Amino acid sequence: MKGTFPINKFKDIDTPFYYYNTDLLRDTLNVIRKESGKYNNFCIHYAIKANANTKLLSIIRENDFGVDCVSGWEIETAMKVGFSANKIVFAGVGKTDKEINFALDHDIFCFNVESVPELEVINQLAARKSKIARVAFRINPDVGAHTHANITTGLAENKFGISMQDMNKVIDLSLEMNNIKFVGLHFHIGSQIMDMGDFIALCNRINELQERLYARHIIVEHINVGGGLGIDYMHPNRCPIPDFTEYFATYHKHLKLRPQQTLHFELGRSVVGQCGSLISRVIYVKQGTNKQFAIVDAGMTDLIRPALYQAYHKIENISSDEPAETYDVVGPICESSDVFGKAIDLNRTHRGDFIAIRSAGAYGEIMASQYNCRPLPQSYTSDELR
Ligand SMILES: *Cc1c(COP(=O)(O)O)cnc(C)c1O
Repeated sequence: MKGTFPINKFKDIDTPFYYYNTDLLRDTLNVIRKESGKYNNFCIHYAIKANANTKLLSIIRENDFGVDCVSGWEIETAMKVGFSANKIVFAGVGKTDKEINFALDHDIFCFNVESVPELEVINQLAARKSKIARVAFRINPDVGAHTHANITTGLAENKFGISMQDMNKVIDLSLEMNNIKFVGLHFHIGSQIMDMGDFIALCNRINELQERLYARHIIVEHINVGGGLGIDYMHPNRCPIPDFTEYFATYHKHLKLRPQQTLHFELGRSVVGQCGSLISRVIYVKQGTNKQFAIVDAGMTDLIRPALYQAYHKIENISSDEPAETYDVVGPICESSDVFGKAIDLNRTHRGDFIAIRSAGAYGEIMASQYNCRPLPQSYTSDELR
């Protein structure tokens, strides 16, 4: 089954462009609100790095979500579309003084601190402004997510977070600091996680750490478990909305929260991944020695995930109903890795056909570059093309 696209509207638009199904985005947001709302202490933040398109942000903002930012510019972008600063969390291993000052000036909800030197700088900069910075420590739980190596972040060998062994030391240090308030523990074990067992392993680890803190009479205000819930790249039509029911229930069941503690989530891919497709036109169908190529006008500059992570995206010819043939679908960029898919079955393809690369709403448009002096891709929503 193919996705449904307003092809008649596409005919007047220059390719490549991102097409966002905003009905699906709204449905997804409604499910997240409903399923997380079953538990009165769950707080949702949108991980803005997945997609910062203003059209989508203004829809996401209609929900009462906070934002997870990993740069000062993301904080600025979130505030510009109207997200309130007191629901913004700020993570990242390399926060600069300028970014920290910006976040302090706007009194964000929490810094997710990833090292001792960072903690010291935040304390100094907050002191200069006579402010108290709220901080959570990002603890590296040494839990391996069963996902691609480049998007696993919770292993000990990773650059992210503070190790479990160092946790007490860092907490002690922060308790001595006049301009730091230690309010939470933060975790994020990776992305595109489909196995709930990984989240259960994280819950168990957090329970252990909470016990250790409890023994020291420390109860933090909040636990932040990051994001990471995966989407079904193979079946974007059959499974357009991730299983948030099971996801939130897993945390409710396995994580032992203390009374008054809130549980924060930072959902990125699972919010926006399925609502986006990269739409391109076929420039040429080229016969190779042993295969045929569909050369499209979108490239790795528009969607880098296949080149960067060997990521799979479902590819459809949405113009043709002819019997399928096998193609390598490639872009025009001067790099051998500029390939969207090898040996892909597409309805027989002709110059000018529209090709949809599905499930491209997360880490697609936002990672676009201008390599080869190409313009950045445009975007259109289903609202605009009705
Ligand atoms: C990227 C990131 C997220 C979002 O991850 P998804 O897999 O897109 O849900 C959440 N928290 C932090 C700290 C991140 O870096």
